[in-house]
Amino acid sequence: MSTITSVRVRFAPSPTGIMHLGNVRAALINYLFAKKNQGTFVLRIEDTDQERNVSAYTQQILDDLEWLGLSYTEGPVLSGPYAPYFQSERDLIYKDFLKILEAKGSVYRCFCTLEDIEKKRQRQIVLKQPPRYDKTCLKLSAAVIATKVALAEPHIWRFNLPDTSIAVHDLARGVIDFDLKNFSDFALTRTNGTFTFMFANFVDDLTMKISHVIRGEDHLTNTAGQAAMYAALDADTPVFWHLPIIVNSEGKKLSKRDFGFSLVDLKEAGFLPEAIDNYLAVIGGSFSSEIGSLSELVATMNFDTMHASGQITYDVEKLRWINHHWIIKISTESLVERVMPFLKAAYPSIDTIALEKITQLITSIKPELRILADSVEKLAFYFNTPVINHEQLEALELVEYRILIHNCIKKSDISLELSDYIKKLQTATQEVGVPVKKFYMLLRLALTGKPDGLSIKDLYAVLGSEEFFARLSEL
Ligand code: GLU
Repeated sequence: MSTITSVRVRFAPSPTGIMHLGNVRAALINYLFAKKNQGTFVLRIEDTDQERNVSAYTQQILDDLEWLGLSYTEGPVLSGPYAPYFQSERDLIYKDFLKILEAKGSVYRCFCTLEDIEKKRQRQIVLKQPPRYDKTCLKLSAAVIATKVALAEPHIWRFNLPDTSIAVHDLARGVIDFDLKNFSDFALTRTNGTFTFMFANFVDDLTMKISHVIRGEDHLTNTAGQAAMYAALDADTPVFWHLPIIVNSEGKKLSKRDFGFSLVDLKEAGFLPEAIDNYLAVIGGSFSSEIGSLSELVATMNFDTMHASGQITYDVEKLRWINHHWIIKISTESLVERVMPFLKAAYPSIDTIALEKITQLITSIKPELRILADSVEKLAFYFNTPVINHEQLEALELVEYRILIHNCIKKSDISLELSDYIKKLQTATQEVGVPVKKFYMLLRLALTGKPDGLSIKDLYAVLGSEEFFARLSEL
């Protein structure tokens, strides 16, 4: 078990796709844990699988982490004492460690073909035995191995798992005992000579002096084999923390089909990075307050009472709620800057509007925004003059009142103060039989095309007197 002197954690994504919520949460928890313990947060890019890796994804990971404010202390670009931080550049280190394990007799060459292994697997299934590699090649004599190597027979290296159990310390679950009899001698290399995730990930954690391995619970079985490698080298095993998986409302593992699974979805809808961090920290966690910035979360986070195991349900409504809080919390300048791309895409004419006016518009709808993209619909009334349609009037049972209000508006005195004007108009319409509720609905329809939304006072302020009365006169 480990004797930790300083906390070193890492986020180790494989650049095989766009960041999704599970990755983001792993990065975030590592970041918070490092901060809480005045530790080091390492970023390592696990790009051993050359066929599936795309360098654009690496850049995307770096950009996303920056956007989320999850700054690392060692890693690509910044470098650090355990560089390189790309697995694709660490081949020599893996080769050295393979030799060390070979010298200790912990690994062996395996010449079995995929077909051989598949046949054995099928037999084990029929015999109701756990499907495991049966260590055939462990029994090969040195002479046979030498001949096969001389003939350049394709082979891989396997780790010879001992017949014992191994204990791992998990922060959320306590001590986990793995019975290694239930595990297969896993591969350290591929037939093309490249190294597997199991091995490279272990060597990197060891050589980068990672004290706590915080990662998804889907890696639990890998942990058993990796702990066996630490033991084989008499090295301290890090403390582990297997994070619960995130599931959708039906209890199924979150997938591409679920809205908000990928960070791109969330960015495009106008979720703020502050809200995403905040949400992913508080789900499955224990905090004195639900709303907090990264530094507040560090201060209030209690790692002793984290969600131990099982699953965490992703609740987009809660994320929206937290996002709304952040929309209210950030400065007006920052909000305007973030809303602008959404408005520009929808209303190119915004370029001709003064920033002061735009700020006023955005401020007026701020209490109604859950996500930034809501601003497009909320401000549609400003950019598109509303047209009242008959079906809408019918549906809202307003047809009979329209003409009554229209007549009163025609006779009204627009030189009055707004509040006096509205009061007078309302009294006049009431006298001719228009209920107050219907009066306001119709006014809003004329001003915005919708029966609800901003107050009349706010509408007057953002539309300006001229536009305000022009729209009313269309009723
Ligand atoms: N590259 C692995 C992944 O993305 C990292 C697992 C780990 O954190 O150990 O799943």
